[in-house]
Amino acid sequence: GSAHVVVVGGGFGGATAARYLKARAPQVRVTLIEPAQTFYTCPFSNLYLAGLRTWDSIAHSYDGLRKAGVEVIHARADNVDTTGKRVFLSNGKLLHYDKLVLSPGIDMRWNALEGYDEAAAALAPHAWKAGTQTQLLKKQLDAMPDGGKFVMVIPANPFRCPPGPYERAAMVAHYFKQHKPKSKILLLDNKDAFSKQGLFLSGYKALYGDMIEWVKQSDDGQVVRVDAKNLEVETAFGTKHKADVLNVIPPQKAGFIADRAGVTDASGWVPIKAESFASQQVKDVYVLGDATQAAPMPKSGFAANTQGKVAAAAIAAELLGQPIATGAFANTCYSLIGTDYGISVAGVYRSEAGKLIEVPGSGGVSPANADAGFRKAEADYGAAWYKAISADIWD
Ligand code: FAD
Repeated sequence: GSAHVVVVGGGFGGATAARYLKARAPQVRVTLIEPAQTFYTCPFSNLYLAGLRTWDSIAHSYDGLRKAGVEVIHARADNVDTTGKRVFLSNGKLLHYDKLVLSPGIDMRWNALEGYDEAAAALAPHAWKAGTQTQLLKKQLDAMPDGGKFVMVIPANPFRCPPGPYERAAMVAHYFKQHKPKSKILLLDNKDAFSKQGLFLSGYKALYGDMIEWVKQSDDGQVVRVDAKNLEVETAFGTKHKADVLNVIPPQKAGFIADRAGVTDASGWVPIKAESFASQQVKDVYVLGDATQAAPMPKSGFAANTQGKVAAAAIAAELLGQPIATGAFANTCYSLIGTDYGISVAGVYRSEAGKLIEVPGSGGVSPANADAGFRKAEADYGAAWYKAISADIWD
Protein backbone atom coordinates (compact mmCIF):
# COMPACT_ATOMS: atom_id res chain seq x y z
CA GLY A 1 0.00 0.00 0.00
CA SER A 2 0.95 3.66 0.14
CA ALA A 3 3.33 5.04 2.74
CA HIS A 4 1.85 5.99 6.11
CA VAL A 5 2.94 8.98 8.16
CA VAL A 6 1.65 9.26 11.72
CA VAL A 7 1.72 12.71 13.35
CA VAL A 8 1.36 12.98 17.13
CA GLY A 9 0.00 16.34 18.36
CA GLY A 10 -2.45 18.62 16.54
CA GLY A 11 -0.95 21.91 17.72
CA PHE A 12 1.20 24.41 15.83
CA GLY A 13 3.89 21.99 14.66
CA GLY A 14 1.95 18.76 14.17
CA ALA A 15 -1.14 20.12 12.41
CA THR A 16 1.10 22.13 10.05
CA ALA A 17 3.21 19.09 9.17
CA ALA A 18 0.12 16.92 8.57
CA ARG A 19 -1.56 19.48 6.33
CA TYR A 20 1.53 20.38 4.30
CA LEU A 21 2.59 16.76 3.87
CA LYS A 22 -0.84 15.83 2.49
CA ALA A 23 -0.70 18.82 0.13
CA ARG A 24 2.79 17.95 -1.11
CA ALA A 25 2.30 14.19 -1.41
CA PRO A 26 -1.44 13.42 -1.71
CA GLN A 27 -0.72 9.72 -2.25
CA VAL A 28 0.77 9.43 1.26
CA ARG A 29 -1.63 8.42 4.03
CA VAL A 30 -1.41 10.96 6.86
CA THR A 31 -2.92 10.27 10.30
CA LEU A 32 -2.98 12.93 13.01
CA ILE A 33 -3.33 11.85 16.66
CA GLU A 34 -4.69 14.55 19.01
CA PRO A 35 -6.82 13.99 22.12
CA ALA A 36 -8.65 17.35 22.00
CA GLN A 37 -11.64 17.83 19.68
CA THR A 38 -11.02 21.57 19.88
CA PHE A 39 -7.56 23.13 20.06
CA TYR A 40 -7.21 26.34 22.09
CA THR A 41 -4.14 28.37 21.19
CA CYS A 42 -1.75 29.80 23.75
CA PRO A 43 -1.17 32.70 21.34
CA PHE A 44 -3.83 35.30 22.15
CA SER A 45 -4.80 33.52 25.40
CA ASN A 46 -3.23 36.52 27.18
CA LEU A 47 -5.71 38.73 25.30
CA TYR A 48 -8.49 36.54 26.63
CA LEU A 49 -7.19 37.25 30.16
CA ALA A 50 -7.28 40.96 29.32
CA GLY A 51 -10.92 40.74 28.22
CA LEU A 52 -9.90 41.69 24.66
CA ARG A 53 -10.78 38.30 23.11
CA THR A 54 -13.50 35.74 23.75
CA TRP A 55 -12.63 32.17 24.64
CA ASP A 56 -14.24 30.94 21.39
CA SER A 57 -12.04 33.24 19.32
CA ILE A 58 -8.95 31.16 20.18
CA ALA A 59 -10.66 27.81 19.45
CA HIS A 60 -9.96 25.72 16.35
CA SER A 61 -11.57 22.49 15.17
CA TYR A 62 -9.95 19.81 13.04
CA ASP A 63 -12.54 20.04 10.22
CA GLY A 64 -10.10 21.95 8.02
CA LEU A 65 -7.50 19.18 8.31
CA ARG A 66 -10.09 16.49 7.60
CA LYS A 67 -11.21 18.39 4.52
CA ALA A 68 -7.59 18.53 3.40
CA GLY A 69 -7.45 14.72 3.49
CA VAL A 70 -5.78 14.19 6.85
CA GLU A 71 -7.20 11.35 8.94
CA VAL A 72 -7.73 12.72 12.46
CA ILE A 73 -8.01 10.38 15.44
CA HIS A 74 -8.94 11.89 18.80
CA ALA A 75 -6.83 9.84 21.19
CA ARG A 76 -3.54 10.10 23.04
CA ALA A 77 -0.40 8.35 21.87
CA ASP A 78 0.69 6.39 24.94
CA ASN A 79 3.78 4.67 23.64
CA VAL A 80 6.00 4.20 20.60
CA ASP A 81 7.91 1.14 19.49
CA THR A 82 10.51 2.62 17.16
CA THR A 83 11.95 -0.81 16.26
CA GLY A 84 8.62 -2.23 15.10
CA LYS A 85 7.54 1.28 13.97
CA ARG A 86 4.26 1.20 15.86
CA VAL A 87 2.33 3.77 17.92
CA PHE A 88 0.03 2.65 20.75
CA LEU A 89 -3.06 4.78 21.31
CA SER A 90 -5.17 5.39 24.42
CA ASN A 91 -8.22 3.99 22.58
CA GLY A 92 -6.51 0.58 22.36
CA LYS A 93 -5.60 0.98 18.68
CA LEU A 94 -2.18 0.35 17.20
CA LEU A 95 -0.85 2.22 14.17
CA HIS A 96 2.07 1.22 11.93
CA TYR A 97 4.11 4.04 10.45
CA ASP A 98 6.78 4.54 7.84
CA LYS A 99 7.61 7.98 9.24
CA LEU A 100 6.61 9.37 12.62
CA VAL A 101 6.28 13.06 13.46
CA LEU A 102 6.09 14.16 17.11
CA SER A 103 4.99 17.67 18.07
CA PRO A 104 3.75 17.12 21.63
CA GLY A 105 4.65 20.54 23.00
CA ILE A 106 5.70 20.78 26.64
CA ASP A 107 5.06 18.99 29.90
CA MET A 108 5.59 20.68 33.26
CA ARG A 109 8.44 19.49 35.46
CA TRP A 110 6.27 18.93 38.51
CA ASN A 111 8.13 19.47 41.81
CA ALA A 112 11.21 20.92 40.09
CA LEU A 113 10.01 23.99 41.99
CA GLU A 114 9.39 22.74 45.54
CA GLY A 115 5.68 22.52 46.28
CA TYR A 116 4.52 22.99 42.72
CA ASP A 117 2.82 19.80 41.55
CA GLU A 118 -0.41 19.05 39.70
CA ALA A 119 -2.53 19.62 42.82
CA ALA A 120 -0.87 23.01 43.37
CA ALA A 121 -1.65 23.97 39.76
CA ALA A 122 -5.35 23.69 40.60
CA LEU A 123 -4.87 26.53 43.13
CA ALA A 124 -2.06 28.53 41.51
CA PRO A 125 -2.54 27.91 37.78
CA HIS A 126 0.32 27.96 35.27
CA ALA A 127 -2.03 28.59 32.35
CA TRP A 128 0.93 27.66 30.13
CA LYS A 129 -1.16 25.18 28.13
CA ALA A 130 -4.34 26.81 26.87
CA GLY A 131 -7.50 25.23 28.27
CA THR A 132 -9.06 24.84 31.70
CA GLN A 133 -5.90 26.29 33.30
CA THR A 134 -6.36 29.55 31.34
CA GLN A 135 -10.03 29.73 32.27
CA LEU A 136 -9.18 29.14 35.94
CA LEU A 137 -6.68 32.02 35.94
CA LYS A 138 -9.27 34.30 34.31
CA LYS A 139 -11.85 33.35 36.94
CA GLN A 140 -9.39 34.13 39.73
CA LEU A 141 -8.52 37.53 38.21
CA ASP A 142 -12.22 38.32 37.84
CA ALA A 143 -12.85 37.40 41.48
CA MET A 144 -9.86 39.34 42.85
CA PRO A 145 -10.76 42.52 44.80
CA ASP A 146 -9.46 45.92 43.70
CA GLY A 147 -6.15 46.60 45.44
CA GLY A 148 -5.13 42.95 45.24
CA LYS A 149 -1.75 41.58 44.19
CA PHE A 150 -1.13 39.36 41.17
CA VAL A 151 2.16 37.47 41.50
CA MET A 152 3.75 35.64 38.56
CA VAL A 153 6.64 33.19 38.93
CA ILE A 154 8.75 33.05 35.75
CA PRO A 155 11.23 30.26 34.92
CA ALA A 156 14.81 30.29 33.63
CA ASN A 157 15.49 29.58 29.94
CA PRO A 158 14.61 27.56 27.95
CA PHE A 159 10.82 27.60 28.19
CA ARG A 160 7.74 27.93 25.95
CA CYS A 161 7.30 31.45 24.53
CA PRO A 162 10.12 33.67 25.87
CA PRO A 163 8.05 36.93 25.69
CA GLY A 164 4.82 35.22 26.92
CA PRO A 165 5.05 36.02 30.66
CA TYR A 166 5.77 39.70 29.98
CA GLU A 167 2.89 40.01 27.52
CA ARG A 168 0.67 38.36 30.13
CA ALA A 169 1.73 40.92 32.74
CA ALA A 170 0.76 43.74 30.37
CA MET A 171 -2.58 42.15 29.51
CA VAL A 172 -3.44 41.64 33.18
CA ALA A 173 -2.44 45.27 33.78
CA HIS A 174 -4.80 46.33 31.00
CA TYR A 175 -7.62 44.50 32.76
CA PHE A 176 -6.68 45.92 36.18
CA LYS A 177 -6.41 49.48 34.89
CA GLN A 178 -10.00 49.31 33.71
CA HIS A 179 -11.58 47.29 36.51
CA LYS A 180 -9.22 47.18 39.52
CA PRO A 181 -6.90 50.19 39.24
CA LYS A 182 -5.47 49.95 42.79
CA SER A 183 -4.07 46.45 42.10
CA LYS A 184 -0.40 45.51 41.72
CA ILE A 185 1.54 43.03 39.61
CA LEU A 186 4.76 41.44 40.87
CA LEU A 187 6.96 39.45 38.44
CA LEU A 188 9.45 37.16 40.20
CA ASP A 189 11.93 36.06 37.55
CA ASN A 190 14.56 33.32 37.58
CA LYS A 191 16.77 35.23 35.13
CA ASP A 192 18.37 38.65 34.75
CA ALA A 193 17.32 39.46 31.19
CA PHE A 194 14.39 38.59 28.95
CA SER A 195 13.05 38.85 25.41
CA LYS A 196 12.28 42.42 24.21
CA GLN A 197 13.10 43.60 27.75
CA GLY A 198 13.67 47.28 27.00
CA LEU A 199 10.50 47.49 24.90
CA PHE A 200 8.38 45.75 27.52
CA LEU A 201 9.66 47.82 30.45
CA SER A 202 9.17 51.14 28.66
CA GLY A 203 5.72 49.99 27.45
CA TYR A 204 4.73 49.09 31.02
CA LYS A 205 5.78 52.52 32.22
CA ALA A 206 4.04 54.37 29.39
CA LEU A 207 0.70 52.58 29.80
CA TYR A 208 0.55 51.39 33.40
CA GLY A 209 2.88 53.65 35.43
CA ASP A 210 4.28 51.64 38.33
CA MET A 211 1.58 48.95 38.42
CA ILE A 212 4.03 46.25 37.23
CA GLU A 213 7.19 45.49 39.21
CA TRP A 214 9.78 43.13 37.68
CA VAL A 215 12.31 41.55 40.05
CA LYS A 216 15.26 39.90 38.32
CA GLN A 217 17.00 36.80 39.60
CA SER A 218 20.03 38.57 41.10
CA ASP A 219 17.72 41.03 42.92
CA ASP A 220 16.01 38.11 44.72
CA GLY A 221 13.57 37.24 41.94
CA GLN A 222 14.20 33.49 42.03
CA VAL A 223 11.36 31.57 43.68
CA VAL A 224 12.44 28.29 45.29
CA ARG A 225 9.28 27.23 47.14
CA VAL A 226 5.56 27.48 46.44
CA ASP A 227 2.83 27.20 49.07
CA ALA A 228 -0.20 27.06 46.80
CA LYS A 229 -2.72 26.65 49.66
CA ASN A 230 -1.66 29.97 51.17
CA LEU A 231 -0.89 31.59 47.80
CA GLU A 232 2.60 32.29 49.09
CA VAL A 233 6.04 31.88 47.53
CA GLU A 234 9.54 32.00 49.00
CA THR A 235 12.64 33.26 47.19
CA ALA A 236 16.24 32.05 47.23
CA PHE A 237 17.08 34.78 49.78
CA GLY A 238 14.19 33.69 52.03
CA THR A 239 11.77 36.53 51.22
CA LYS A 240 8.10 35.56 51.34
CA HIS A 241 5.51 37.08 49.01
CA LYS A 242 1.78 36.65 49.52
CA ALA A 243 -0.49 36.85 46.47
CA ASP A 244 -4.19 37.30 45.88
CA VAL A 245 -3.80 35.53 42.55
CA LEU A 246 -0.73 33.36 42.03
CA ASN A 247 0.41 32.33 38.54
CA VAL A 248 3.33 29.89 38.63
CA ILE A 249 5.00 29.11 35.30
CA PRO A 250 7.22 26.14 36.21
CA PRO A 251 10.27 24.68 34.45
CA GLN A 252 9.34 22.54 31.47
CA LYS A 253 10.46 19.63 29.27
CA ALA A 254 9.38 17.93 26.03
CA GLY A 255 5.95 16.23 26.09
CA PHE A 256 6.23 12.72 27.57
CA ILE A 257 5.77 10.85 24.28
CA ALA A 258 9.19 12.15 23.18
CA ASP A 259 10.74 10.28 26.14
CA ARG A 260 8.82 7.13 25.26
CA ALA A 261 10.11 7.31 21.69
CA GLY A 262 13.68 7.67 22.98
CA VAL A 263 14.35 10.96 21.21
CA THR A 264 15.08 13.17 24.27
CA ASP A 265 18.54 13.63 25.80
CA ALA A 266 19.57 14.37 29.39
CA SER A 267 18.26 17.95 29.07
CA GLY A 268 14.68 16.68 28.70
CA TRP A 269 14.45 18.21 25.21
CA VAL A 270 14.98 16.68 21.75
CA PRO A 271 18.13 17.13 19.67
CA ILE A 272 17.25 17.36 15.95
CA LYS A 273 19.02 17.54 12.59
CA ALA A 274 18.57 21.13 11.53
CA GLU A 275 17.99 20.43 7.83
CA SER A 276 14.91 18.23 8.33
CA PHE A 277 13.99 18.21 12.04
CA ALA A 278 14.64 14.46 12.04
CA SER A 279 15.67 13.10 15.44
CA GLN A 280 19.42 12.80 15.94
CA GLN A 281 18.84 9.64 17.94
CA VAL A 282 16.10 7.58 16.29
CA LYS A 283 15.60 6.83 12.60
CA ASP A 284 12.38 7.84 10.81
CA VAL A 285 11.19 10.01 13.71
CA TYR A 286 10.84 13.79 13.23
CA VAL A 287 10.25 16.18 16.11
CA LEU A 288 8.92 19.75 15.91
CA GLY A 289 8.20 22.77 17.99
CA ASP A 290 8.65 23.38 21.69
CA ALA A 291 9.84 19.80 22.35
CA THR A 292 13.03 20.37 20.36
CA GLN A 293 16.37 22.04 21.02
CA ALA A 294 16.18 24.46 18.11
CA ALA A 295 18.01 27.47 19.57
CA PRO A 296 18.59 30.11 18.30
CA MET A 297 14.95 29.62 17.20
CA PRO A 298 12.62 30.30 20.15
CA LYS A 299 9.90 27.97 21.37
CA SER A 300 7.09 29.73 19.53
CA GLY A 301 4.03 28.78 17.50
CA PHE A 302 5.43 30.65 14.52
CA ALA A 303 8.67 28.63 14.79
CA ALA A 304 6.79 25.32 15.13
CA ASN A 305 4.76 26.18 12.01
CA THR A 306 7.83 26.92 9.91
CA GLN A 307 9.57 23.77 11.22
CA GLY A 308 6.47 21.73 10.31
CA LYS A 309 6.71 22.91 6.71
CA VAL A 310 10.41 22.05 6.43
CA ALA A 311 9.85 18.59 7.94
CA ALA A 312 6.85 17.95 5.64
CA ALA A 313 8.98 18.81 2.61
CA ALA A 314 11.83 16.57 3.80
CA ILE A 315 9.50 13.63 4.52
CA ALA A 316 7.73 13.98 1.17
CA ALA A 317 11.08 14.10 -0.63
CA GLU A 318 12.31 10.96 1.13
CA LEU A 319 9.12 9.01 0.49
CA LEU A 320 9.03 10.07 -3.19
CA GLY A 321 12.75 9.46 -3.70
CA GLN A 322 13.55 13.11 -4.38
CA PRO A 323 16.49 15.15 -3.07
CA ILE A 324 15.85 17.08 0.16
CA ALA A 325 15.67 20.83 -0.42
CA THR A 326 17.51 23.23 1.88
CA GLY A 327 15.15 24.49 4.55
CA ALA A 328 14.70 28.13 5.46
CA PHE A 329 13.03 29.11 8.72
CA ALA A 330 11.50 32.28 10.06
CA ASN A 331 10.00 33.57 13.27
CA THR A 332 8.16 36.65 14.46
CA CYS A 333 6.80 36.97 17.98
CA TYR A 334 4.32 39.81 18.37
CA SER A 335 3.40 40.89 21.88
CA LEU A 336 0.58 43.19 22.86
CA ILE A 337 1.22 45.65 25.68
CA GLY A 338 -2.00 47.69 25.28
CA THR A 339 -4.88 47.67 22.78
CA ASP A 340 -2.99 49.92 20.35
CA TYR A 341 0.52 49.09 21.48
CA GLY A 342 2.29 46.12 19.85
CA ILE A 343 5.98 45.13 19.71
CA SER A 344 7.80 42.34 17.88
CA VAL A 345 10.98 40.35 17.52
CA ALA A 346 11.84 38.61 14.26
CA GLY A 347 14.53 36.31 12.90
CA VAL A 348 15.39 34.23 9.82
CA TYR A 349 17.29 30.97 10.25
CA ARG A 350 18.92 28.27 8.16
CA SER A 351 20.83 25.07 8.69
CA GLU A 352 24.58 25.14 8.33
CA ALA A 353 26.64 22.00 8.88
CA GLY A 354 23.70 20.38 10.67
CA LYS A 355 23.16 23.30 13.06
CA LEU A 356 20.58 26.07 13.03
CA ILE A 357 21.99 29.56 12.70
CA GLU A 358 20.34 32.96 12.58
CA VAL A 359 21.01 34.57 9.21
CA PRO A 360 23.27 37.53 10.00
CA GLY A 361 21.46 40.86 9.84
CA SER A 362 18.09 39.20 9.23
CA GLY A 363 16.08 39.99 12.32
CA GLY A 364 15.70 42.39 15.18
CA VAL A 365 13.21 44.00 17.51
CA SER A 366 10.87 46.98 17.16
CA PRO A 367 12.62 50.35 17.44
CA ALA A 368 12.89 51.74 20.97
CA ASN A 369 11.59 55.19 20.11
CA ALA A 370 8.76 54.44 17.70
CA ASP A 371 5.72 56.74 17.65
CA ALA A 372 2.15 55.77 18.54
CA GLY A 373 1.32 55.02 14.90
CA PHE A 374 4.12 52.47 14.70
CA ARG A 375 3.01 50.72 17.93
CA LYS A 376 -0.59 50.65 16.66
CA ALA A 377 0.54 49.16 13.33
CA GLU A 378 2.38 46.38 15.15
CA ALA A 379 -0.72 45.63 17.24
CA ASP A 380 -2.62 45.29 13.94
CA TYR A 381 0.11 43.08 12.42
CA GLY A 382 -0.15 40.80 15.46
CA ALA A 383 -3.90 40.37 14.96
CA ALA A 384 -3.38 39.74 11.23
CA TRP A 385 -0.66 37.19 12.04
CA TYR A 386 -3.05 35.29 14.31
CA LYS A 387 -5.71 35.16 11.61
CA ALA A 388 -3.24 34.10 8.92
CA ILE A 389 -1.53 31.36 10.90
CA SER A 390 -4.86 29.97 12.10
CA ALA A 391 -6.04 29.72 8.49
CA ASP A 392 -2.72 28.18 7.45
CA ILE A 393 -2.94 25.45 10.10
CA TRP A 394 -6.52 24.61 11.08
CA ASP A 395 -9.31 26.73 9.65
P1 FAD B 1 1.41 22.68 20.89
O1 FAD B 1 0.93 23.73 19.98
O2 FAD B 1 1.20 22.82 22.35
O3 FAD B 1 0.74 21.32 20.42
C1 FAD B 1 0.99 20.12 21.10
C2 FAD B 1 -0.23 19.23 20.91
O4 FAD B 1 0.16 17.87 21.12
C3 FAD B 1 -1.34 19.51 21.91
O5 FAD B 1 -2.54 19.73 21.21
C4 FAD B 1 -1.41 18.26 22.77
O6 FAD B 1 -2.74 17.93 23.13
C5 FAD B 1 -0.84 17.22 21.83
N1 FAD B 1 -0.20 16.08 22.50
C6 FAD B 1 0.74 16.10 23.46
N2 FAD B 1 1.09 14.84 23.80
C7 FAD B 1 0.35 14.02 23.03
C8 FAD B 1 0.26 12.60 22.91
N3 FAD B 1 1.01 11.79 23.67
N4 FAD B 1 -0.61 12.08 22.01
C9 FAD B 1 -1.37 12.90 21.23
N5 FAD B 1 -1.32 14.24 21.29
C10 FAD B 1 -0.47 14.79 22.18
N6 FAD B 1 3.82 31.60 20.01
C11 FAD B 1 3.80 32.48 18.98
O7 FAD B 1 4.33 32.18 17.91
N7 FAD B 1 3.16 33.68 19.10
C12 FAD B 1 2.53 34.06 20.23
O8 FAD B 1 1.96 35.16 20.29
C13 FAD B 1 2.55 33.15 21.34
N8 FAD B 1 1.93 33.49 22.49
C14 FAD B 1 1.95 32.61 23.54
C15 FAD B 1 1.34 32.98 24.73
C16 FAD B 1 1.34 32.13 25.82
C17 FAD B 1 0.68 32.55 27.10
C18 FAD B 1 1.99 30.87 25.72
C19 FAD B 1 1.99 29.91 26.88
C20 FAD B 1 2.59 30.49 24.52
C21 FAD B 1 2.59 31.35 23.43
N9 FAD B 1 3.22 31.00 22.23
C22 FAD B 1 3.22 31.90 21.19
C23 FAD B 1 3.98 29.74 22.10
C24 FAD B 1 3.19 28.63 21.38
O9 FAD B 1 1.99 28.37 22.07
C25 FAD B 1 4.00 27.34 21.33
O10 FAD B 1 5.33 27.62 20.96
C26 FAD B 1 3.40 26.37 20.32
O11 FAD B 1 2.13 25.96 20.78
C27 FAD B 1 4.31 25.17 20.09
O12 FAD B 1 3.74 24.27 19.17
P2 FAD B 1 3.90 22.69 19.41
O13 FAD B 1 3.35 22.02 18.22
O14 FAD B 1 5.27 22.39 19.84
O15 FAD B 1 2.99 22.41 20.70
